[in-house]
Amino acid sequence: MKQSQKRKIDWSRFLSGIPARDYIFQNIPYEEQIKRASTRIKEADVILIGAGAGTSTAAGLAYDGERFTDNFSEFIEKYGSMYMTDMYAAGFYPFPTEEAKWGYWSKHSMINRFLPPAMPLYNQLYDIVKEKDYFVLTTNVDHQFQKAGFLEERIFATQGNYGNIQCEKGCHQKIYDAEDLFRRMDQARHDCLIPSDMVPKCPVCGGNMAMHLRCDQYFVEDENWHEAAGHYCDFLKEMEKKKGVLLELGVGFNTPGIIRFPFEKMVRENKNLSLIRLNMNEAVVPESFGSRAIGIGGDMARVISDLNDKRSI
Ligand SMILES: [Zn+2]
Repeated sequence: MKQSQKRKIDWSRFLSGIPARDYIFQNIPYEEQIKRASTRIKEADVILIGAGAGTSTAAGLAYDGERFTDNFSEFIEKYGSMYMTDMYAAGFYPFPTEEAKWGYWSKHSMINRFLPPAMPLYNQLYDIVKEKDYFVLTTNVDHQFQKAGFLEERIFATQGNYGNIQCEKGCHQKIYDAEDLFRRMDQARHDCLIPSDMVPKCPVCGGNMAMHLRCDQYFVEDENWHEAAGHYCDFLKEMEKKKGVLLELGVGFNTPGIIRFPFEKMVRENKNLSLIRLNMNEAVVPESFGSRAIGIGGDMARVISDLNDKRSI
């Protein structure tokens, strides 16, 4: 049977009736999509990037497969392959002691935050937007945007950073740079455990410390976090009067309330804005946006590279 021109997806069943009831996979050839996206970017005064986990996966920083089994074999052996399936699941393992918890997290931070250089995908992304008035909203915590040259004052990383730690109970609104600590832990780790005298303690309440990641209600939003949130608000206000592109990268349905849904709302309410959505399997866009939405599926590394090639043409 011939496939219909536009395949309709009833996402409302999954999203409890949240806005986009008219998601479609666009039936437009890849080359044409790249051309349209490239033109949109060229014509834009401002570009707002919204980046989720899929961006770093596409960049080569996958949490599963060989990257996991090669780097974490010792942990898989100790805690069992049933629980240690990938770095995401491993992060939720109920480590029995602080020595075990930091034994794991120091390794995780080294592998995802401190050891990788800026990945080519991020470098190319920077090349695409660097001449523009841009801003980055991201749920990623691996610091790739900063490494690739994006300016700190143009980044709002809402969910924390693998390089910082905080009081586990958030007893005070401060975060601490843990790079040096993690590097020392990485050297001293034995049998997946770090020495007891390296276990960090909260300087205020004396309790345990935790990674600075939003995983419960104790996540610390310090001065810098609020400052970045302010920069984002200012950018949005400025964008209202301009021709803008919202470039959404690898955002799934884990936390759609941070990037995906707000981006759709902005485009729905402002005719000067358009949405470019790059997503491996979920590049659906609201049909009602018409030509103001471009949804490109498949390998994002290829798409970013092709968009970067088109930049100078
Ligand atoms: Zn504390």
